Amino acid sequence: MRLIIEARLADEDSDSVNDGDGVLAVVERRDRSLAELGLTLVEGRLLLAKVQAELVSKQVEWWLSGQTHCQRCGAAMRHKDSRSTVLRTVYGKVTVKSPRVWSCVCERTVQTPQRVVHPLSKTLTRRVTPELEYLQAKWAAHLPYRQATAMLKEVLPLNKGISFGGTRDRIHTLGKQLDADIERDIEKLPHAVADVQVRESSHVAAVSVDSAWLRNCDVNRDPGRYVNIVAGRATFTDGPPKLYAYVHREVTSAAARLDQFLSRNGVASDERVTVISDDAGEFAKTVEGSRLARGRVLDWFHIAMKFQAAQRSVFGSKMIDSLERESVENEIANAKWLVWHGKGSRAVERSKALDARLLTREGYEFHTLWWKLNTVSGYLKNNARALVNHGARHRKGLPISSSIAESAVNQVVSHRMAKKQQMRWTDEGAHYMAQVRVAVLNGELSPRRICALDVAASRHGKCIGAAPPGRHRPTNRSGCTTMR
Ligand SMILES: [Zn+2]
Repeated sequence: MRLIIEARLADEDSDSVNDGDGVLAVVERRDRSLAELGLTLVEGRLLLAKVQAELVSKQVEWWLSGQTHCQRCGAAMRHKDSRSTVLRTVYGKVTVKSPRVWSCVCERTVQTPQRVVHPLSKTLTRRVTPELEYLQAKWAAHLPYRQATAMLKEVLPLNKGISFGGTRDRIHTLGKQLDADIERDIEKLPHAVADVQVRESSHVAAVSVDSAWLRNCDVNRDPGRYVNIVAGRATFTDGPPKLYAYVHREVTSAAARLDQFLSRNGVASDERVTVISDDAGEFAKTVEGSRLARGRVLDWFHIAMKFQAAQRSVFGSKMIDSLERESVENEIANAKWLVWHGKGSRAVERSKALDARLLTREGYEFHTLWWKLNTVSGYLKNNARALVNHGARHRKGLPISSSIAESAVNQVVSHRMAKKQQMRWTDEGAHYMAQVRVAVLNGELSPRRICALDVAASRHGKCIGAAPPGRHRPTNRSGCTTMR
């Protein structure tokens, strides 16, 4: 049997259908079996490409038929010549005829003599559809560039319509545009009201932030340097969680980033949120500089992990005999519960006292236990201001752990930008990739958004493509030397 698929053109306002010889595809099944059931991937791709080519060329033809006369005076335009224009769509590349005409006499002045007008190019400033850009960006945010490109080529008739390099450039441009969009938002942020009039945001359930380190591209020049990426996640009482991320060295103000994220997700200027974080380096300063974050709570998960490490090293220590082991372990556990009840300084005293007791023994300072106990007290001392009564918070049903932020970092970083995959990044490349990934994971990327970003980019042409003053670094366009 043969299935013949034809294209027929029907007028918009009549029922008549123009018979044509537009056979798009003939699907043939020679034997009477179900072995080859339905359209194959190859047949489907070919059919889609042909339908698209037919539709696009007919649409362009139809549009051009309305462009033969001057829009101002109605005089017929003089044809000059015809060029061809390549349009890239999700269903393949389509080449269309694009005539050039002489500009109308009515537009002619002494200063501007007759010129050549290219109506199609003037209207279709971008030769790629936002849908194709969206698909490229979305899949490259999930998969390495090569895999994303190969996957799209396998399911869609995109044979030469997309390339690995194009996908990489697309992510870079889009990341830049998303970043510029955030910066524009920051400029418009409302002024926060005085602290006396504020209330805790009822809409945000928890905000937690953590950071991760990615391998740097330029190991030869700067072997010790890593790319520090910060990722945060907010959960809401009435909606799915949202993420945000940035590379620390790529933003002018981390606090403004946090405020933009909170404001965009519905935190009003008279509301405040409490942020849970680990000892994430610079992050304490971020919260202090923020207009919408009120305070920082040290993450219970990280505290508990540090105590647990100390307790484990008691077991492995040869210096402490089995009879004494339990009392040392209890001492550490007691210090932990003091922290839980908001008595951080007493916990530090307690672990210092234990440390002093053990210091009398020879060789103690070379043991893991010494190291772990000092890590705990150092950690508590450095973050004393972020220590709260975790127990009371927990009883009130307030969040105490940023283990959800751990998953935020994992979500943004691990699968796509992971260290395990041997990927190396520049600050800029990682930052732009993070913007695209966050937009995809938050469900905020769509062909329409891409279109809007492009419009904004052309309006704010100077911001896009230009490096921020004094921060120009030569990098390749992808921001990543290990091509994947
Ligand atoms: Zn005219």
